[in-house]
Amino acid sequence: MKNITIEQTDMTFQCGDGDTILSAGLRSGLGMPHECTVGNCGTCKFELIEGKVEVLWQDAPGLSERDRSKGRMLACQCRPVDDSRIKIRLDDACRLVHPPRKIEAVLSGTTDITHDIREFRFQSDTEASFIAGQFALINLPGVIGPRAYSMANLANEAGDWHFQVRRVMGGSGSSVLFDRLNLGDRVGLDGPYGLAYLRTEVKRDVVCIAGGSGLAPMLSIARGMVAAGMTPETNLHFFYGARQSRDVCGEEYLKSLPGFDQTIFYYPSVSSPDDGWNGRTGFVHEALQDVLPGNFADYEYYMAGPPLMMRASVELLTGHHHVPLGQIHFDSFF
Ligand SMILES: Cc1cc2nc3c(=O)[nH]c(=O)nc-3n(C[C@H](O)[C@H](O)[C@H](O)COP(=O)(O)OP(=O)(O)OC[C@H]3O[C@@H](n4cnc5c(N)ncnc54)[C@H](O)[C@@H]3O)c2cc1C
Repeated sequence: MKNITIEQTDMTFQCGDGDTILSAGLRSGLGMPHECTVGNCGTCKFELIEGKVEVLWQDAPGLSERDRSKGRMLACQCRPVDDSRIKIRLDDACRLVHPPRKIEAVLSGTTDITHDIREFRFQSDTEASFIAGQFALINLPGVIGPRAYSMANLANEAGDWHFQVRRVMGGSGSSVLFDRLNLGDRVGLDGPYGLAYLRTEVKRDVVCIAGGSGLAPMLSIARGMVAAGMTPETNLHFFYGARQSRDVCGEEYLKSLPGFDQTIFYYPSVSSPDDGWNGRTGFVHEALQDVLPGNFADYEYYMAGPPLMMRASVELLTGHHHVPLGQIHFDSFF
C-alpha cells in the first residue's frame, strides 16, 4: 500500500499494490477526471512532484511529445513504487457513485448480434453495481493491459454483466474473447468507470447516438430510462450508425422495450450502402440533422462509438446547434 498526497489539497489516499493512481483515487471517492482509463484520451494527466512511479505503457497515445517533455504522466498508466506527491486536477462532478471494485467473473453465455459483434455475459459472486452507460475493465489472459467494455444491461443483484464486443482484426483483447475464452472461464473485472451515464433527474427528451460497438452503453441507457420510469414522459430517439447493411443492429433489443415506436424511436443509417440496404444512408450525425424534431438544444445527448464519429457529432451539436456541452455525455471507443 502506498500513500498518494495531492499537492493542492494535501489530501492523501492509499493505492493498493498493483493499482493505478487513477483507479485508487476513484476507489477512494475522489473526483478524478477520466474518460477511457486505458491510456488513450489523456484526461487523467498529472505531474509527479515527489516519489516514484512505474509507467505501465510507455508509449500510451494519451500523452503528446509536449506532455512528455513537461513531465506529465497518465494516472491510468502509473503505479506508485513509493509514497508520492502529485499535482492533479480534481472535480467533484467526476466522483463515481459506485466506487470501482476488482472482482472475478465467469463467462456464462454468448450470443452473436451481427457477423462481428457478440454479446458476452459474465457472472460474478457479488452484485453488479453501476449506472446505465458506464463501463468496466476486463483483464484477459495473455493480454497486456486491461480492455474497456461498456455494460449493455442494468445493475443487478444477481451479478450479471453483459458486454457487446466487436471483433477487431488483429486485436489482441477481442481475439481472446472471441476465439479463446470458453464458457466457465474466469476473467478479472474492474469497475464501474465512466462519466457518460444516464442522468435520470434530467427531464429533457433523450438522443442516443451509437456507432458500431457503441450499441452496448446506449442500450443500457435505453433500458435504464424505462427502468427509471422516464418513459413515456420522456421520448428517446436512438440513432445507430453502421458501415453496411450486415452491421445494422439494435432494433430487436429496443423493440422489446415498452413504448417502442410511440416514445422510443430507432433510426439506423449506413455509411457505405450495399445492395441489401434501402434505408437511410450517410453518417449517423447527418441522420440527426434530417430526422430530429425541434430545437437540438432541447435534448440530452448520450453517445458512444469511434473517436471520429464522436468528434463529428460533438462539433455538429455544439458548433452548429449551440447545444451546451453539459448536455452531451460520451465515450470514445479508442
Ligand atoms: C470507455 C470505452 C468503452 C468501450 N466499450 C466497448 C464496447 O462496449 N464494445 C467494444 O467492442 N469495444 C469497446 N471499447 C473498445 C475496446 O476497449 C478495445 O479497444 C477494442 O475491443 C479493441 O481491443 P483489442 O485488444 O481487440 O485491440 P488492440 O488493438 O490489441 O488493443 C486496443 C486497445 O488496447 C489498449 N492497449 C494496447 N496496447 C496496450 C499496452 N501495451 N498496454 C496497455 N494497453 C494497451 C489500448 O487501450 C488500445 O486502444 C471501449 C473502449 C473504451 C475506451
